[in-house]
Amino acid sequence: MKTLLSGGTVVSMDPAVGDLDRSDVLVENGVIVKVAERIDAPDAQVIDASDRIVLPGFIDNHRHTWQTAFRGIGADWTFPQWAAAMHGTVKPHYTPEDVYVATLLGRLEALHSGITTMLDWYHVAQGHEHEDAAVAALRAAPARSIFCLGAGWAAPHSVDDDIRRVRSKLDGDDLVTMAWGLRGVEDTSIDTVTRELKLAAELGLRTSLHTGSDGTQRPIAELREHGLLRNTTTFVHANGISDEELRMLADAGSSISISPDVELKMGFGSPVTGRALAAGLRPTLSIDVVPSVAGDMFSAMRAAFAAQRGLDGGLRARDLLQFATLDAAQSCGLDARTGSVTPGKDADIILLRTDDLTVFPVTDPVGTIVSAGHAGLVDTVLVAGRVVKRDGALVDGDLSALKSRLLASRNRIATAADVPLDGSWDPQPTSA
Ligand SMILES: [Zn+2]
Repeated sequence: MKTLLSGGTVVSMDPAVGDLDRSDVLVENGVIVKVAERIDAPDAQVIDASDRIVLPGFIDNHRHTWQTAFRGIGADWTFPQWAAAMHGTVKPHYTPEDVYVATLLGRLEALHSGITTMLDWYHVAQGHEHEDAAVAALRAAPARSIFCLGAGWAAPHSVDDDIRRVRSKLDGDDLVTMAWGLRGVEDTSIDTVTRELKLAAELGLRTSLHTGSDGTQRPIAELREHGLLRNTTTFVHANGISDEELRMLADAGSSISISPDVELKMGFGSPVTGRALAAGLRPTLSIDVVPSVAGDMFSAMRAAFAAQRGLDGGLRARDLLQFATLDAAQSCGLDARTGSVTPGKDADIILLRTDDLTVFPVTDPVGTIVSAGHAGLVDTVLVAGRVVKRDGALVDGDLSALKSRLLASRNRIATAADVPLDGSWDPQPTSA
């Protein structure tokens, strides 16, 4: 099975391949085999990529996908309001069906906007049926996903058996893999973090945890004191973390995931993008929660770029694109397989329209993608060589039936939780 992407503007994000005008990419059995100005492949299925930018698919390495049904409802909310609304008010009413349909439509939405790899940071409910529903939803979407089981978040008790159970369930799955969403030292004891990291290593699981500081806490230094910094851990947000602690993360080879829109709008403080780079860390970007922000990486890149420019005039457009592709692949341990248009990697590739009026004429492809790109430009998406979106539409699945299910789910949860859906919901944070 061969596919030839023909005559596109290739922005490979691989320094060895570079950017190529009017060039071809040959995909064979799901893998990129060649990138060159002209490739003869008479037996290949040809996708015309003229008037298209050929780019590695985006990677979102932190999204609480279960909240999809409440998209856009919390645009005005602060973080305490979001926490009260999502964790306090609606979460207890989620059934496995609600988890399934939110996760599936959330994953498809991400794919639609060019996110070929997504980490679902699951923390809706602890229970086999809910967890299995999320896994089944990720498996139903033709995309590369990581089920990051935030065990212990929903119910703070020992979660080892739960982790082992889901781990064995996903054993051998090529596209849907697993990670462990840990509680940080702010949320649990050092002994628990120590034990859980040990089990994660035994099971070959990468870990992700939310962290931050108001300037008085030193969560990273504390982990380091106990020998708990790993090159397989991604620290989410990290706002307020000192430069010294960012250097500790760089030394350990850990990664960070910045959700720029959420952090700025919900009161976390300035994203650490520039300080992380100065400390020797490659930032990555994530969406976090769609009740509050858009679900596409164009928005995340633009927010991070503007925030850093506002602080110190730093960053170049290409930096943002690298955070959202190659650097994120590394943070997920998937850089041998995805994150750039590189021969030998899986063909996770997106084609962006250059003939759309919102971006025409495209003189500088990278600058245009980062400054003016949007999900409406995503014409074609390949995941491991499989064409999952073509001519602007997802190829498989009955979206209208799924949309009806998501609406029914949203309405049922809202009724059960007694929250209005007319725009008047103003959650009241409870003091912890
Ligand atoms: Zn989060």
